Amino acid sequence: MDYMKLADLLFPNVTDTPEDLEQRYPQRSLPEGAIVTRMAPSPTGFVHLGNLVMGLTAERMAHQSGGVLFLRVEDTDAKREVPGAVEVLINTLKHYGISFDEGATIDGDSGNYGPYRQRQRAALYHVYAKKLVQNGMAYPCFCTEEELGAMRQQQEANKETTGYYGKYAMWRDRSLEEIQAQLSAGNPWVLRFRSTGSIENQFKFDDLVKGKLTITENDVDHVLLKSDGIPTYHFAHAVDDHLMRTTHVIRGDEWLPTLPFHIQLFKALDFKLPKYVHIGPLMKMDGTSKRKLSKRKDPELALTFYKAEGFPVEAVYEYIMTVLNSNFEDWRRANPTAPTDDFKFSPKKLNPAGSLFDYAKLTDVSKNEIARMDAQKVYTLLTQWADEFDPEFADKLKADPGFATAILAIGRGGKKPRKDIATWKEAKPYMGFFYDEYLEKPVFDAKFSKDTVLTALEKFLERFDIADDSSVWFDKVKAITEEMGFTTDMKAYKADPDAFPGTVADVSTFIRQAVTGKTNSPDLYTVMQILGYERTVNRIRAVMETLK
Ligand code: GLU
Repeated sequence: MDYMKLADLLFPNVTDTPEDLEQRYPQRSLPEGAIVTRMAPSPTGFVHLGNLVMGLTAERMAHQSGGVLFLRVEDTDAKREVPGAVEVLINTLKHYGISFDEGATIDGDSGNYGPYRQRQRAALYHVYAKKLVQNGMAYPCFCTEEELGAMRQQQEANKETTGYYGKYAMWRDRSLEEIQAQLSAGNPWVLRFRSTGSIENQFKFDDLVKGKLTITENDVDHVLLKSDGIPTYHFAHAVDDHLMRTTHVIRGDEWLPTLPFHIQLFKALDFKLPKYVHIGPLMKMDGTSKRKLSKRKDPELALTFYKAEGFPVEAVYEYIMTVLNSNFEDWRRANPTAPTDDFKFSPKKLNPAGSLFDYAKLTDVSKNEIARMDAQKVYTLLTQWADEFDPEFADKLKADPGFATAILAIGRGGKKPRKDIATWKEAKPYMGFFYDEYLEKPVFDAKFSKDTVLTALEKFLERFDIADDSSVWFDKVKAITEEMGFTTDMKAYKADPDAFPGTVADVSTFIRQAVTGKTNSPDLYTVMQILGYERTVNRIRAVMETLK
């Protein structure tokens, strides 16, 4: 077989050579140890937590090593593509603090190793396809769907492994004449790799997450180019990651089964094999067993979910770090205010079997994260969230920023800041009572008569002075308690509850409910200070009216 002739027949328009491309995309000049890696998502319109996990791993590995992170859009599967998906992807990743040094951007490509969208790279793939044909390592296959279907059926009937390999590789050794005849007839063809591997052979391979793997050689003549000349994932992966000078391939472990083929392909193309970081899936507990997070069953897989719930970006980021690197939490405890980037991220710490996603833990991390923010930041982020998801609440917050910020400042700062809310969605239930429109009618404990509550409120109003400091204020509450025959001695009350009609806690609750509508609120003295004399008194009076 004259492979040179075959190559010219199949790729008459390809004039560039691999050498030309090597020159066009030279080795990057980066410091020793710098990692060049990428995110290579398919634009399906759905950005999920797994994308973020991989993005964050890639971002940390690249930037921590003084390397490069780029975005390549894998749009070879036109059927799966959703319009606007690239924009959604870029914006979402940016929102979570993953920024690319080069690659596809909203306004086109940026960087010297493009194009960064696979469909625009057809000519590049064809250069290498032609080379493989010239070397006898690839050949055209004119099998129809029916023929492939029949082959599969026969393999199944024989209880053999299905696929295009060995004696089933129908077009592997056809003559140039046969091929020419098909081409002249205008029949469609795919380009297949001529595998020289055998499933009898195994070799060792080191994956940065999975560790040492034993790999069985590939014997399947996989498709490199589809009938429209567009490459399969495998071929594009080899050509792109070579020409873009990727040093580390970070991707989901669903690609492990085809890794033997990828290794084979890099060798055939004379490309240096990158390092591989195969990341396991995100799992969750379902009852007592673990399962993969599913797009259909688990709304928390979509990144839009976290935005709508109002988890601050920092919290999601911080949480993913705890999932990825088990020592992150200890580091964070020792360095509570350090920027996350100071943490030494290591792919070796990733769980090879996949990470367990724990919603309660995320909530916890988020509470801590919000507790660490100052009131101004909380105000800004909360307002941004409310603008999109609760515009009425946003209007209230923006009508008096000083008032809102004062509310949000309660319990903030100091060694033990309050951890009231985990999401922006929880802010309204927490602080809404400050706004008259959201104030609820109190429901007092039926254990106490209306008169008892009324008496306590009357007595409070008689001596309430907004200028009191908190200890004077509380002394007054205690005085009321005693006047009413309630006790301030909690120990004595616990020892003999029947000896007293109630305690200072009950009296405080009456007042708290009258002012906030709730039995639980941030520090009541501070609440009154923020509401001011007039509003506090008016609220208490209004409640008293309902008790008369
Ligand atoms: N487009 C592939 C995917 O979405 C990318 C895999 C890779 O990163 O190489 O899974």
